[in-house]
Amino acid sequence: MNYNAIESSWIGILGGGQLGRMLALSGYPLGLRFRIFDPSPLAPAGHLAEHVQGAYDDTAALDRFVEGLSVVSYEFENVPVQTARHLNQRAPVYPPPQALETAQDRLSEKTLFQKLGVETPPFAPLFSLEELTEAVARVGLPAVLKTRRLGYDGKGQAVLRTPEDVERAHALLRGSELILEGFVPFERELSILGVRGRDGASVFYPLVENHHRDGILRLSLAPAPGDLRVLQQRAEAICLQVMKALDYVGVLAIEFFQHNGRLLANEMAPRVHNSGHWSMEGAEVSQFENHIRAIAGLPLGSTRVRGCAAMLNLIGELPGLSQPLGEPRAHAHFYGKAPAPGRKVGHINIVTETADERADVIRKFANCPGVYDIQPRA
Ligand code: AMP
Repeated sequence: MNYNAIESSWIGILGGGQLGRMLALSGYPLGLRFRIFDPSPLAPAGHLAEHVQGAYDDTAALDRFVEGLSVVSYEFENVPVQTARHLNQRAPVYPPPQALETAQDRLSEKTLFQKLGVETPPFAPLFSLEELTEAVARVGLPAVLKTRRLGYDGKGQAVLRTPEDVERAHALLRGSELILEGFVPFERELSILGVRGRDGASVFYPLVENHHRDGILRLSLAPAPGDLRVLQQRAEAICLQVMKALDYVGVLAIEFFQHNGRLLANEMAPRVHNSGHWSMEGAEVSQFENHIRAIAGLPLGSTRVRGCAAMLNLIGELPGLSQPLGEPRAHAHFYGKAPAPGRKVGHINIVTETADERADVIRKFANCPGVYDIQPRA
């Protein structure tokens, strides 16, 4: 294959947050150029890529953005599907707009899983809050009530444990399309990241164990501790099935609950994912570079882990650089964002030879500003 055509060509990314920034950073060594589209003048990727500012429904701005691009991708799954479809008439958009459309709605995402025979928590859609009582009867308590759209980092969710909670939820979530899910008393949360190229070739990263607090990812361990052979095979098969069903190109993340040895699919993200940030130094080729390779039609790179990796999110505040860099096995990634409560402003990656060493290094960051004090198993 001749890849010269893609060299020095321009890649467009809808959304200029940290994911867009890290995508651009991983593509520059390949000689690619980047243009982002983001309504905010403060978009972190705007520090290092051409920035077209505009609203996602501003077709004149979108037309300026797409001019001369070889391929368009997105780093933000709430990009309107119409925007992706509009751009797709001028340059290929990957992952395909239908993947974006499916992942934007928790109901269509869970329905796809169900259609493919992938286990999920029990769920029931609600078109009005009046239907809540009926859905509770079907799914049982405890349950999690979620908005179907625009929820992220645990926002737009309420755990219902008692009939009084159900009453209260009426007031809380009035006016949105909702889904009720059975509460899964999971052993742990795992995610898989798959990458599919334009030619249909696919590779998978090892399952990652994720620790959340208040619905926000705090810590990822890659590979997830324990014997992964059976789970890895199952997760890869699920991810491949979903990618094939959506004619997928790029990185796809699927989040699971592990419960009684089974994997229950919770949600998917049609983009590079926070639970794959460890791969920047922890894998032979990172999720960001592999996403760029996939959408550009280049050969995919190795997903092999170098030893044991971990990622600690920095949330709400940043330490001084000397704190992470005082640990020789740590890598600091600061996103150039102003700290604010609950905002992801950076992460620390750790790569060690053994899982015990990894746990030791994580412990050293227990009191680091932005890090939630979490003690994972080795
Ligand atoms: P989500 O936005 O669906 O990823 O939910 C955010 C977090 O809430 C998840 O990572 C879980 O920790 C928790 N959660 C969501 N849905 C459920 C569920 N059905 N059962 C138990 N915990 C859940």
